Parts: sequence; C-alpha cells; structure tokens
Amino acid sequence: MTWLLPDTLWHDGALRTGLAWRAGVVSLSSSGQRLSGTLLPGLVDAHAHTQLIDVTALRGLSGVWDLGGNPAVVAGQALRWAGPFLIAPGGYPSDRSWAPAGSCREVLSVTDAEAAVAEVAAAGATLVKVTAHAGGPVLPAATLAALVDAAHTLRLPVVVHAEGPGTVAAAYEAGADLLAHTPWTSSLDDGLVRACAGRMTWISTLDIHGYGEETPARGTAIGNLRRFAEYGGTVRYGTDLGNGPLPPGINAREIRALLAAGLTPADVVAAMTDNDWAAPAWVPAGLDLDPGRFPESLAAAGPIVGT
Ligand SMILES: [Zn+2]
Repeated sequence: MTWLLPDTLWHDGALRTGLAWRAGVVSLSSSGQRLSGTLLPGLVDAHAHTQLIDVTALRGLSGVWDLGGNPAVVAGQALRWAGPFLIAPGGYPSDRSWAPAGSCREVLSVTDAEAAVAEVAAAGATLVKVTAHAGGPVLPAATLAALVDAAHTLRLPVVVHAEGPGTVAAAYEAGADLLAHTPWTSSLDDGLVRACAGRMTWISTLDIHGYGEETPARGTAIGNLRRFAEYGGTVRYGTDLGNGPLPPGINAREIRALLAAGLTPADVVAAMTDNDWAAPAWVPAGLDLDPGRFPESLAAAGPIVGT
C-alpha cells in the first residue's frame, strides 16, 4: 500500500498539511497518492450498547465502548466493554424492558463485590460498569467502594451511571473513574464539579435529552458539563447508542451540544479519538472548523474508500 497524502491531517490538536498516512502510521512524506479532504484518527463513541444496535452499520465510527451488556454477546463487538451492569438487588436497569437478558449482575455485599469484579474481568472486560440510580435500590457506600477497589486492583476503570440526588457524590467518593452520562437531574454543587474535574472523565450523552429539542434536562446537563470542562475535566464523546432514536453513527446533534457546553471543535475531536490511526476517519470535503458548520462536517466522516 502506498502512502496517502490528504489535503489535511489532524495531528497534535490541529489540521496539518504535509503529513501522510499508511497502514496505521502517520509520517512526513511528500510522495504517494493524493487524497482529497481530511484524515483524522479513528472516531469513537464511548457509550453504546452493542446488543441493541448493528455495529457493522455505524457510519463514521471506528468503534464503540459497550457500557453494559451480556459478555457472551458484546465481546468482540466493541473496542472496550464492561460486561454486565453491576447493580443493587432489584436496582436499575434490571427493572427496564430494554435491559437484555444477562446484562445485569446483582451485588449482594462487600464480599460479593470482589467476586462480581472477578467475574467481569475473567470474561475479558476492560471496564467495570456500576449503576447508582436514586429512583430505586442503590448499593451501600461500602459496597460501591469495594467494587471500585476490586476493579482498580485489576487495573480496570470504573464507569458509573449516576442518576438522581447524591449519586454523583457517591460515585466520586467511592473513587470511580468515569460517569456514563453528564449529570442531568440537577445543577451540581460547584465544589463537587471541581472535585470531579480533578480526577474523572465524563462521557457526554447530551443529546439523549430531547434528541435535538431544548429540554430542561439538556440545559442542566450542558451547564454541568460547561463547568466540568472549565475546571479541566476530561470529556469523552458518547451518545448511549442503542437507547432511543439516535443516528447510527456520528451524531451531529451531540457535537452541537458539546459546542454549546463551551468545547471548541479541537476539544470535540480530542473527546472522540484515542489518537489511534489503525482505522482513520476520512472527511472527503475537508474538515470545516467553523463552529456553525463543524458538527455536520465531522458527521460526514467515513472510512477511506476508493483508493
Ligand atoms: Zn447506556
């Protein structure tokens, strides 16, 4: 395979010229085959449920993280995956119709927390997903902390679905690494947002609130994410693919909401990539960094074809 020479290539947080790509490698090169438009590292949705979607039909994404599913089904469908939701007995989402069989594992005690994490790790998961939903049974603080400790012993990051009063603080205090959603049920205390920004990554999922319509929850989530980002928190693009009417691929509405939260186009690209060049994204018309046109421009990305 020859070097491909795109008009521009995303590198070190900006569009560059004079860089070439070949088989996963980026290099300075001036000889090769011209390619119109822009090449970017692979674009990732960090919140999906691959049991509920066709992963082979996701336009523009090089992969997804599966944040809750049956390991026997989701293994091999995601770049990273969490296996079952670890939940309080009877807790969310075991009470929801969309939760597929085998996607929840009740955690009964501190001792059982270690066993639950060991099961997830043995199945091959690279993330641990825990739910803290104030609308139903929630795990005691000691059990939540035991889950996080067991996961960290095995070097597995913990992603928490935190929903409702006190749940974000509980996730933070237990030592969790990521939130599966930007908090949306209330405007968080500033000290808590600042504390989270010092240590956590929040996965955005802003568009699930209204799917393009203004809603109070969307405004609350955008306000929380704005402060989290201003305090230096790490944001990852994620849409909860599989739940609700979301486009099967890059979601321009999610990108627009991230811009509304104060992220720049460069911040959005950073939130969508792991700088992995194995499966680059190609924007044939060239990536447009004008904030008004950027969401649709990036959402037009796809795999390299026709070379
Ligand atoms: Zn989800």
